[in-house]
Amino acid sequence: MSSLRFRSLANAANRQAVPIVVNEKLSSLFNQHVFSVDTMREYLPKPVYIEIISAQEKGTKISRDSADFVASAMKEWAMSKGVTHFTHWFQPLTGTTAEKHDSFFRPIENGKAIETFDGSLLVQQEPDASSFPNGGIRNTFEARGYTAWDPTSTAFIIGTTLFIPSVFISYTGETLDYKVPLLRALQAVDEAATEVARYFDKNVNKVSSTLGWEQEYFLIDLNLYNSRPDLLMTGRTLFGHSPAKGQQLDDHYFGAIPMRVMAYMQELEIECMKLGIPITTRHNEVAPNQFECAPMFEETNQAVDHNSLLMDLMGRIAKKHNFKVLLHEKPFAGVNGSGKHNNWSLSTDTGENLLSPGKNPKKNLQFLTFFVNTIKAVSTYGDMLRSAIAEAGNDHRLGANEAPPAIISIFIGSQLTAVLDELEKVTKGKLSPEEKTDLKLNVVGKIPEILLDNTDRNRTSPFAFTGNKFEIRAVGSSANCGEPMTVINTIVAKQLRDFKKEVDKLIDGGLSKDEAIFNVLREYIKSSRNVLFEGDGYSEDWVREAKKRGLNNYKSTPEALKSELKKEFIAVYEEVGVLNEREVHARNEIKLEKYSTKIKIEANVLADLSLSHIIPAAVTYQNVLIKNVKGLKDIFGEEEFVKLAKDQMDLIRLISDHINAVKTNADILVKESGKASEISDVQKQAEAFATKVKPLFEIIRYHADELEELIDNNLWPLTKYREMLFTR
Ligand code: ADP
Ligand code: MG
Repeated sequence: MSSLRFRSLANAANRQAVPIVVNEKLSSLFNQHVFSVDTMREYLPKPVYIEIISAQEKGTKISRDSADFVASAMKEWAMSKGVTHFTHWFQPLTGTTAEKHDSFFRPIENGKAIETFDGSLLVQQEPDASSFPNGGIRNTFEARGYTAWDPTSTAFIIGTTLFIPSVFISYTGETLDYKVPLLRALQAVDEAATEVARYFDKNVNKVSSTLGWEQEYFLIDLNLYNSRPDLLMTGRTLFGHSPAKGQQLDDHYFGAIPMRVMAYMQELEIECMKLGIPITTRHNEVAPNQFECAPMFEETNQAVDHNSLLMDLMGRIAKKHNFKVLLHEKPFAGVNGSGKHNNWSLSTDTGENLLSPGKNPKKNLQFLTFFVNTIKAVSTYGDMLRSAIAEAGNDHRLGANEAPPAIISIFIGSQLTAVLDELEKVTKGKLSPEEKTDLKLNVVGKIPEILLDNTDRNRTSPFAFTGNKFEIRAVGSSANCGEPMTVINTIVAKQLRDFKKEVDKLIDGGLSKDEAIFNVLREYIKSSRNVLFEGDGYSEDWVREAKKRGLNNYKSTPEALKSELKKEFIAVYEEVGVLNEREVHARNEIKLEKYSTKIKIEANVLADLSLSHIIPAAVTYQNVLIKNVKGLKDIFGEEEFVKLAKDQMDLIRLISDHINAVKTNADILVKESGKASEISDVQKQAEAFATKVKPLFEIIRYHADELEELIDNNLWPLTKYREMLFTR
């Protein structure tokens, strides 16, 4: 095995950057492979074009005839670019994207053939879906689900295939993917936010949720990746001593991008441009060989699709550059993990960002309304957000020293804290003319238009206001953004509905609109105080303080997922019309099963590598030492030998101790993992994996990593951290 390590290292060291030639401006590549609004305008009859745009903007139905027009336009456009196949492209709950390609080609009579694609094929496709997770919703005898075209996201071409973004639904009508609940949540937040926005501007007819994600990832040489069975099987390293140099010097962060990586990034950006993913940012991240990219924000459904597409694209392009992209939240212990910040806001069809402070008191009251309602939503339903980001990989990252803790709190900065303090003092009921003027001039009027540069950037908060948007930082790097985006839009929709009711009631009771709004906001601020935290989220003090405040700290996925089934949370999903109780349960079960399966695989790999890689290497080296000691004895005789061989003999003992510890604990691991596998209740099973199996990982790893330090480098079978993290 160690020979594989050295061969891989030699290959990696000899690699050159793959040359990338960019002949065109990126802007001229933009949307080249997308069936974009412009392409539609060109290819569709005007009435059909208008119908599609209206379906995209207002969610209206598309007639069968128009679907035929769109299908034939898509086919014509795609074939002009060499496309031969089409696929419905969807996002099942496996976490990756799924596609099944069908040809445009159809044989007809007399040995002839044509290329065909009509509305029925565009609208619906039936993959054999029996192997996608469904949480018990579909019995195998009715194991069919279907995919249906989502006209609110753009179709695109990869290679010779036309990709049609789609939803995935069971025949009994339940949702089986990330997209359907998201679309429902987006519609709900649109309706609720539009109503509230109309307090301030009657011209508002639609509110869209916006998402700008930032994607962190590691890149390591493909050969080195392939030389590590743990990375290959689990996406993360289960062993590995920390290198002498890690990220202590912070010399990688924002440093010059290595040549091979730059070539990969350039090619990725070119492909992103063609596919309409508006990537604008690239840089080195904190950990060695860790990087980040981010686009301009977009409408949320489109942005989620683009992120899923990006993750897929990254893998494909990395391969051409002999890299492997690691999207795992914690591929390497001891250095930073990877997250995916989800920047979220709401914007109106009149072109306004509802979370952006404005130029005058009226706009600022609008800002405060949406700002405080978001805080209130997270204060009441924060645990739903925690469940949405719960995943085995993310457990390693949350609460580690470089990522937000598992406690959901909100950071808003000192200026806005001061504004909320003032608002909390607003008189109950009617306001005097003096108070109104004072509020206008000194509180609402004083919100600086540009908060962006003034908000202290608190990097330790899982949910931070950053000037004109909230940034959800606790999302895992491998996650589908759809789930956290479903939750934030669901809970804000629910909150805005309640707000509207309360304000209208006060208005009916004789208060002016502004008075009513101030009165409700005051109460929201009071009841949301416990979720606001400006201090260091990484500190132990905060863990204690949060406990006092009654905030939950669900450290593990099973704990976080248990809370997902609370009655009040299911009620929110049902009331807002995003998921019914059966669907929440099914999804919860899928996530728990996925958690258990991941830990079980890790346990197997860990035990296997312990026995077949680590212990044999340790024994081999120990034998070298034994031979040496025996030789010394032969040559020097009893008395002198004792002195000369002392260190070697200590080392032989030490190696034995570690070997025994690895072996004993690996045996226990196999037993405990087997026991956990037998448990039939999914919640209890996941808990057993979390509390009985996973803790053994650290113990085994400790002893194995010690062995790595003791054993002859030439004999060590697993590619070392320094080799994976510093070869580029
Ligand atoms: P950083 O957080 O890295 O300092 P910025 O504050 O400029 O950088 O923006 C970070 C991300 O926020 C970008 O990906 C951008 O697309 C996104 N973003 C900016 N405005 C909005 C918005 N209104 N809605 C959603 N995302 C936004
Ligand atoms: Mg950011």
